[in-house]
Amino acid sequence: MQDVVTRSDFGELITPVYSPASLIPVRGEGSYVWDADGRRYIDLAGGVAVTGLGHAHPDLVAALGAQSQAIWHIGNVFTNEPVLKLARQLTDATFGDRVFFANSGAEANEAALKLARKFASDRASVNGQKFEIIAFDHSFHGRTLFTVSVGGQPKYSAGFGPLPIGIRHLPFNDVSSACVGISEKTCAVIVELVQGESGVKPAELEFVRALRQRCDEVGALLIFDEVQTGIGRTGCLFAYMDYGITPDILTTAKALGNGFPIGAMITTASIGDHFTAGSHGSTFGGNPLAASVANKVLEIVQRPETLEGVKLRNRICLERLQEINRRINVFSEFRGRGLLIGAELNGNYRGRSAKLVEHAYAAGIFTLMAGPDVLRLAPSLVIPIDVLNDGLAALERAVETFAAE
Ligand SMILES: *Cc1c(COP(=O)(O)O)cnc(C)c1O
Repeated sequence: MQDVVTRSDFGELITPVYSPASLIPVRGEGSYVWDADGRRYIDLAGGVAVTGLGHAHPDLVAALGAQSQAIWHIGNVFTNEPVLKLARQLTDATFGDRVFFANSGAEANEAALKLARKFASDRASVNGQKFEIIAFDHSFHGRTLFTVSVGGQPKYSAGFGPLPIGIRHLPFNDVSSACVGISEKTCAVIVELVQGESGVKPAELEFVRALRQRCDEVGALLIFDEVQTGIGRTGCLFAYMDYGITPDILTTAKALGNGFPIGAMITTASIGDHFTAGSHGSTFGGNPLAASVANKVLEIVQRPETLEGVKLRNRICLERLQEINRRINVFSEFRGRGLLIGAELNGNYRGRSAKLVEHAYAAGIFTLMAGPDVLRLAPSLVIPIDVLNDGLAALERAVETFAAE
């Protein structure tokens, strides 16, 4: 085996589903990351909204270290203490009483969608043919065949047919089409409270209210996909808390393990108990290593100072972005909640978000795109203010070279 690998090995070794940056990050500490050449970057991307507490957080390192010396894996023929504690934390903190653990956002959504179908099927004698799932245009729910079919971006399911049936897409944030489209045939409605991947677009309060009301009228389950918005990202533990509207099922993943893979589906007892022994499962879901890390993540994120800090950092980001834009006008709009921020490129720069991300690397920061027209920032919730300011100063330099190009 060769020990030295470089970026140029990627094409030879990895199925080409990604086109990674030319640099390779090798070490991280807080919101700093170093690449293989020893260059330091400020991370405003958070591993795509995953490392909510930054890199190598000492409390998380300690939690993982301690569990790694206790027990790694025992399978679902046993339960384990970390997973029970984690379920207790999640149910204490939310509307839910039951949790199913998975390894990813897609799997949490897969569980939610299967549960909604099972719930409807168990009551079929009452409701008849009730299997339709309603989702929204431009939504993103993961990459399994089911979740990619439910997602509202046809480019992600193209070529993988035949796709699962009984899925309908409606326009996002359109109250009247939701009221008409959600019917007695609907078993579930799935929605992101901020559409993350497709441009950081928040769901309007009136829209979410209408979904809740219409689901209640027709006996459909409302699923909030909080894979990206959950775990403090928007300034509350889950974004639904800010809306004051409760779902029937909530899914989360990304930041729950701060990079250690784990996903969760949270629901009520009366819905969750339609999954019975053997009806769903996962080898690694609820693994003690992942659960130990997630327990510590939840403990830290739920501290009032963490969540207040997200709101403070949101204001710092927005003020600085507006200032940058007054000097170098490349953006038309800033959107998002908490530390999930989207900056839409204006007409002169449309389609060039990937280019801006490249300039940001050169300026020493990691940023993200959210579709071709939107720059996305998802830094650590606890990024030190001076580091955030340095990062935004670097972003200004990146915008300068981008605009001058
Ligand atoms: C990232 C994401 C997913 C998919 O999560 P994976 O862990 O990649 O499977 C699903 N829904 C939303 C809203 C996401 O942002």
